[in-house]
Amino acid sequence: MKELLYTFLKDFFATSKLNRLPESYGGGRIFSKPLIGIANGDDPIFEKFKEVAAPRHMTPAEMWIASDCPEAPNLASQLRIISVVCPFSNHIREESMKAKIMPAEIYSIGRNYANAFKIDVMKQLIQFFQEKGFQATAGMLSEAFDIYSGFLSTWSERHIAFAAGLGTFSLHEGFISEVGCNIRLCSVITNAPLEATPRNSDDPYANCLFYAKGTCRECEKKCPGDAIDENGHDKLKCWTYGRKVEAEMNARLGSILKPHWRRVRGEYKEQKPPVGCAFCQYDVPCMDKNPMASEN
Ligand code: SF4
Ligand code: SF4
Repeated sequence: MKELLYTFLKDFFATSKLNRLPESYGGGRIFSKPLIGIANGDDPIFEKFKEVAAPRHMTPAEMWIASDCPEAPNLASQLRIISVVCPFSNHIREESMKAKIMPAEIYSIGRNYANAFKIDVMKQLIQFFQEKGFQATAGMLSEAFDIYSGFLSTWSERHIAFAAGLGTFSLHEGFISEVGCNIRLCSVITNAPLEATPRNSDDPYANCLFYAKGTCRECEKKCPGDAIDENGHDKLKCWTYGRKVEAEMNARLGSILKPHWRRVRGEYKEQKPPVGCAFCQYDVPCMDKNPMASEN
């Protein structure tokens, strides 16, 4: 079923209208081909995420129950979590590498449209499993998803991707997959009996040149918000620069951006359309590959 699942997803990425830039920006694809990883629901790493990601981060079984999916004996062992890497297209990357101070318009639009596309990817995957007689849900689409305190949430797609063996964290606090860090992530939980993909390493920073070898720090040089140094990524400085980007790009592109709703502290709230920043992801060694691939 894994091959069928990947073919379905690859075709969906190729044909979905939601994976397209507006015609006035060339109409090309926002995301190229996806990657998928699969974790077992009873992997002990999900309990660890309560310590390292957020105290209220949910295990797949907790999310399953909270999403009104059926309970079962040994539920956790029956669940599989499919994490999907959505890599930005080369065209968006080429334009973004030329940008200074403010991101390329084409990236801001792609980053904004990415949310609607990811929601559809998760809905399509849920339907895919249901049509095959299984159940499925998605943490990000669940009523149980919440950003409950500052930057803490009940479901972190980067942590799910790590569990599914898709890559590791990094100095810029992105996620370095085998196709790089300039990506978006989403996931679904199912009771279909898929074979899990192994993690190459339990080192959460194995793919980052700075943590693995003490070199690089290119993301630090690219950041216009002074939000990265040898101690890591300063979320508050990043957020502050992000508000400047948001104000400028929303003013420039407002009429073609899509609205965005998120559950924050228990309530669905309309947010300013997200437009990204991501200078730290462009023209760096981990933009489109795992720079430690040959050594890991
Ligand atoms: S640019 Fe270099 S230091 Fe920064 S996250 Fe990528 S590999 Fe790590
Ligand atoms: S998103 Fe922007 S402000 Fe935040 S770390 Fe990356 S480059 Fe810096």
